[in-house]
Amino acid sequence: MSESLILGLPQLFAVLIGLVVGSFLNVCIVRLPEDRSIIVPRSHCPSCGHTLRPLELIPVVSWLVLRGRCGHCGSPISPAYPLIEILTAMLAWLLFRRLVPDLSALDVAHAVAWLAYFTFLCLLVVAAYVDVRHWIIPDWASIYAIPLGLIVALVLPSLGYEGWLALDWRQSVTGALVGGSALATASIVARWVMGREALGWGDVKLMAMIGAFVGPVQVIFLVLLPASLIGSVISLAHLAWTRRRGYLPYGPSLALAAAIYVFYGDIIARRWLPGVAFWMGLL
Ligand SMILES: [Zn+2]
Repeated sequence: MSESLILGLPQLFAVLIGLVVGSFLNVCIVRLPEDRSIIVPRSHCPSCGHTLRPLELIPVVSWLVLRGRCGHCGSPISPAYPLIEILTAMLAWLLFRRLVPDLSALDVAHAVAWLAYFTFLCLLVVAAYVDVRHWIIPDWASIYAIPLGLIVALVLPSLGYEGWLALDWRQSVTGALVGGSALATASIVARWVMGREALGWGDVKLMAMIGAFVGPVQVIFLVLLPASLIGSVISLAHLAWTRRRGYLPYGPSLALAAAIYVFYGDIIARRWLPGVAFWMGLL
């Protein structure tokens, strides 16, 4: 059997997991900001309350078959649902390809690394999307997920994982502290300069969580700096588009920068930030 065929099966598996998890993220995105349970009640139509049958719960497919409408009352169902499922599946697939590029990387350590950083990406998706919709970042996708980053930093080295995403528990703890305090400082300075709240505590908590997954130097140079660039570009685009200044949530910029780090952190560090690359053990 050829190598691509052997790797194709776990890749397909990653896509299927991504679709199912994306469907679960939709539930989190809708219910977490309203402080509702993500387990009960079962998924239902927001218009008529009709509980979805198993065939109506298939990611993407159900939405397409029902042509974006509730099968019971016919109310439109947002295309955001299948789009989140497709996005999550894409992230699962691309991350697998990045972490397991060939057969030599097809082992338990890399599978666990995939699971760990796929979970991290899912937290970023929820944080960014809820921030866009409600201007808040759920604690479950930020501060409560910090211990998860710490567990990842404890487990991956013990399995012998040595990718550029590897970090030890000390880096995870200092990453959370450095990330959180850097953004807390920025928030206080921004409030002082602009005379109004520009960065909320949700952003601070999100940054602490990101720090726990990426480490202290990386969180500053490979997440916070690129995120301010991304945020500026988004602000300028928004200003050009709507011709008015407005408050824009910062969570999506942080989440996007952190996701780019997961996929290309080593390449960016080697090419543009040799000091950071040296510290990460890449040079
Ligand atoms: Zn309905």
